[in-house]
Amino acid sequence: MEKDKFDYYIKTEKNSWEIIIGLEVHAQVISNSKLFSGSSTKFGGKPNTQVSLVDSAFPGMLPVINQYCIEQAIKTGLGLNAKINLHSIFDRKNYFYADLPAGYQISQYKNPIVGEGIVTLDMPYGTKKVGIERLHLEQDAGKSIHDLSPDNTFVDLNRSGVALMEIVSKPDLRSPDEVNSYVKKLRSIMRYLGTCDGNMQEGSLRADVNVSVRKKGEKKFGTRCEIKNVNSIKFMEMAIDSEAKRQIELLESGKVIEQETRLFDTKKNETRSMRSKEEAHDYRYFPDPDLLPLKIEQSFVDSLKKKLPELPDQKKDRFIKKFKLSPYEANVLVSEIGISKYFEEVIKNADIKLAKNWIIVELFAVLNEKNLDIKDSPVLPKNLASLINSITTGEISGKIAKKVFEIMVETGDEPLKIIKEKGLKQQSDPKELEKIVIKVLENNSDKVSEFRSGKEKLLGFFVGEIMKASSGKANPGLVNDILKKKLKK
Ligand code: ADP
Ligand code: MG
Repeated sequence: MEKDKFDYYIKTEKNSWEIIIGLEVHAQVISNSKLFSGSSTKFGGKPNTQVSLVDSAFPGMLPVINQYCIEQAIKTGLGLNAKINLHSIFDRKNYFYADLPAGYQISQYKNPIVGEGIVTLDMPYGTKKVGIERLHLEQDAGKSIHDLSPDNTFVDLNRSGVALMEIVSKPDLRSPDEVNSYVKKLRSIMRYLGTCDGNMQEGSLRADVNVSVRKKGEKKFGTRCEIKNVNSIKFMEMAIDSEAKRQIELLESGKVIEQETRLFDTKKNETRSMRSKEEAHDYRYFPDPDLLPLKIEQSFVDSLKKKLPELPDQKKDRFIKKFKLSPYEANVLVSEIGISKYFEEVIKNADIKLAKNWIIVELFAVLNEKNLDIKDSPVLPKNLASLINSITTGEISGKIAKKVFEIMVETGDEPLKIIKEKGLKQQSDPKELEKIVIKVLENNSDKVSEFRSGKEKLLGFFVGEIMKASSGKANPGLVNDILKKKLKK
């Protein structure tokens, strides 16, 4: 595979193929109770302990809409720059499954709460706009557990009725990389808004991935296959790659693609058929007679809009303008709200340029290595700020600062305490430094003569020796000045 700047093609002996991808992302709404009942949505509860009579579909039970979930969906819609539909309808989507006791899922079909919107991706080749088709609210189903017993399947209804937002993209994505960036951007926006925690391990964010291929230059889309319920970004990328290759092989050997629903086998790295694609009419959608059409006042939408926090794109623009960051730096610093807060906390009291470098390079390496979230960083923002200030005031060199940082990571201690205890303060007394310089030059008199007869490259050698002699504590600027003076003689 290779990339021609914007476009990503799979090249075979015969053709170049383009991949077309559209995502249906299921995002669990952050709310204490379910979409139509008061039971708890907390993750990890004992099976079937968070189930009301509505969730278990007892006859005669009536769903009551949770206004907070509606607010969450509207906020998300606003975050996706989308149209909020003041009039929307809840439909029954009928199908049979053991973990769906009602025999239908309450969802939205023709009249969703959120219409078309736009998400902007930052790709290495520039920004890319991805269209949002719609966002609708729906209930989650329960969970069937097949692997606890060889003869039985167990059903846990704790999840039954939890509110999901289904965010449907237009078929605007063209590569696994773009899908990676899209899902991360959606997650970032929803985390900023506090509408979905985006925790993929707990299933709060998962996607159905629609894939088709077409020859380079072709206008018409090919037939798509839908890969159901992929729950990690890595698996989405792998599934797209393997599914596209499968389709290309079929097409190149003269076969056709059947529109179908497939599953991704993560162990074999291949997709396999699950069922032929169902049509909307198979579900016999109809408006739920237990629920009135949902009417929202524009003033309600406006009031939510006023309360929206600064979102990643706006924050990025502000960081670029105000702090003179590059787009790349701004991007990594705003990608997670926790990181952006950390950065802003550090630069309250420290140099911006040093702060961004220390966070992006040193801190990220530590968090990565220890697999820690920024909120659990062993180095507190105020301590990083204080370390940076020790560099700018000349108290320690950048090199020593790295040593101090390592100790901060292990102990969580304040840098000033470490510098004092370990005696790491930079040596900036010219008289003391001069003594060291003279000694190093005396011990290397042959090299001094070589330097004086023109081998100026040796300057670095002398500096190195002096730093060694001072255990790395000599102020490098002063050392250079003194050294140059002495060598002239
Ligand atoms: P369904 O419920 O049948 O899956 P949706 O409208 O919910 O239909 O979702 C269709 C998804 O498939 C959208 O994300 C859309 O962008 C995507 N899609 C549509 N046509 C194609 C295509 N030819 N190739 C890839 N993706 C497509
Ligand atoms: Mg679908």
